[in-house]
Amino acid sequence: MDGTMNHDRDVPGSPATSTRRRVLTRLDLLRDEMLDTLTAAVRIPSITPTYPGEVYADVVGAEGEVSRLLAGVYAEAGAETDVFAVAPGRDNAVGVIRGTGGGRSLIFNGHVDVVPPGDVSGWRSGDPFDGVVEDGWIRGRGTVDMKSGLVAQAFAARALHEAGVRLRGDLILQAVVGEENLENHLGTSAVLDRGYTADGAIVSEPTGGDRPLSVMAATPGVLVMRIEVTGKSSHSSMRGRMLYRPGTTGPVAASAIDRGFVIYQALRRLESDWAATKFDPLFEPGQFTLAPGVVDGGARHSRSGAFIPDSMSMVYAVFHPPGEDQAVVRKEIEAHIAHVAATDPWLRTHPPVVEWPLRYPGSRVDAAHPLCVAVADARELAAVDTPLAGRPPLAAFPSAADSTWLCAAGVPAVGLGPGELAMAHAYDERCAVDEIVCAARAYALAAMDWCGS
Ligand SMILES: [Zn+2]
Repeated sequence: MDGTMNHDRDVPGSPATSTRRRVLTRLDLLRDEMLDTLTAAVRIPSITPTYPGEVYADVVGAEGEVSRLLAGVYAEAGAETDVFAVAPGRDNAVGVIRGTGGGRSLIFNGHVDVVPPGDVSGWRSGDPFDGVVEDGWIRGRGTVDMKSGLVAQAFAARALHEAGVRLRGDLILQAVVGEENLENHLGTSAVLDRGYTADGAIVSEPTGGDRPLSVMAATPGVLVMRIEVTGKSSHSSMRGRMLYRPGTTGPVAASAIDRGFVIYQALRRLESDWAATKFDPLFEPGQFTLAPGVVDGGARHSRSGAFIPDSMSMVYAVFHPPGEDQAVVRKEIEAHIAHVAATDPWLRTHPPVVEWPLRYPGSRVDAAHPLCVAVADARELAAVDTPLAGRPPLAAFPSAADSTWLCAAGVPAVGLGPGELAMAHAYDERCAVDEIVCAARAYALAAMDWCGS
């Protein structure tokens, strides 16, 4: 342990220390059951039914099944449970373990939905949902993102209950739907609106970046931007005339793809400027980007090489520092696009249309906030005498997470969860069992510290 640990709460032989031992011993005894529950959760293919490419009716319902599985564990942890859905089949599960009074309340939050597995042949196991535990890993879609964290939180609560620990503040367990397609109105925000708020939250998204089980105190603001560029269609053989022989009555055609890439290049330059100008001490340099995700262009009535394309659309994910006013960020990008459009003879009179379908303001908890300190202390104490020992630096989760909606509702939210971020959404997704165990220990210790016991 290094000098930042709160040694006053870790005096050998003190009642607090022996209670903690009891809880951690209980967790050790629950280890196999925890992994069995996790395997059962992974075997439910709870793909977000609205995910692009999915057939809603074929997929809907699995999220609710995972939530009900979690609700069972919450009940075993002594919680009053509430399973409810805003959209049929898409149930959230909440478990409330009432405190004895006088302590701070805490939310454990995680999402039950997973992204599609992609082409099954891309998985070495041949089954993305087999949830097999092997050689210290559990594999399958959703192990990292994020059923391991979700199940570890539930078993941390069970260990506290079975070790006879009564927390002073309420512990509120939340298993929510729809996170992967940014449907917080069906998941986390719906749960918060139903009255399940607290003085702090730990979101169990995978926080293994440079170091496993980092404590992540911030998430970036994320904007989804859609740009529509309109051209003028003609036969593709007219390209030479379009480029080099402008007519006296206006261009014979205008390629939306050529014009779209003018915008693309301009945004690439803006992105480089951002690397030098947008800054937040919790984020890696260059983490604020304009990420093109979709480019789609062609003739409106026929995607064919025989046409000069009259339409091109681009979809970007824009990552900016949390706390930056999103209206200002949007204006900055729109002004940049307008400036470039003004230098182009076609775009000047046919300006691109910019829309912002999704907005995540981002979240940030100060490094000195007692929640950050409590979670980092718990993480450190949980890993003593293991290969994960040490105090990981505070970092920022690189993408949108439900921390945004917790923070927006006045609940400071910090991320801590097993799994490597790079494994999320990837083929052969797998999570280290040691990290899952360590995370469960950290959740239990954090709850004891934050809520009081
Ligand atoms: Zn996730």
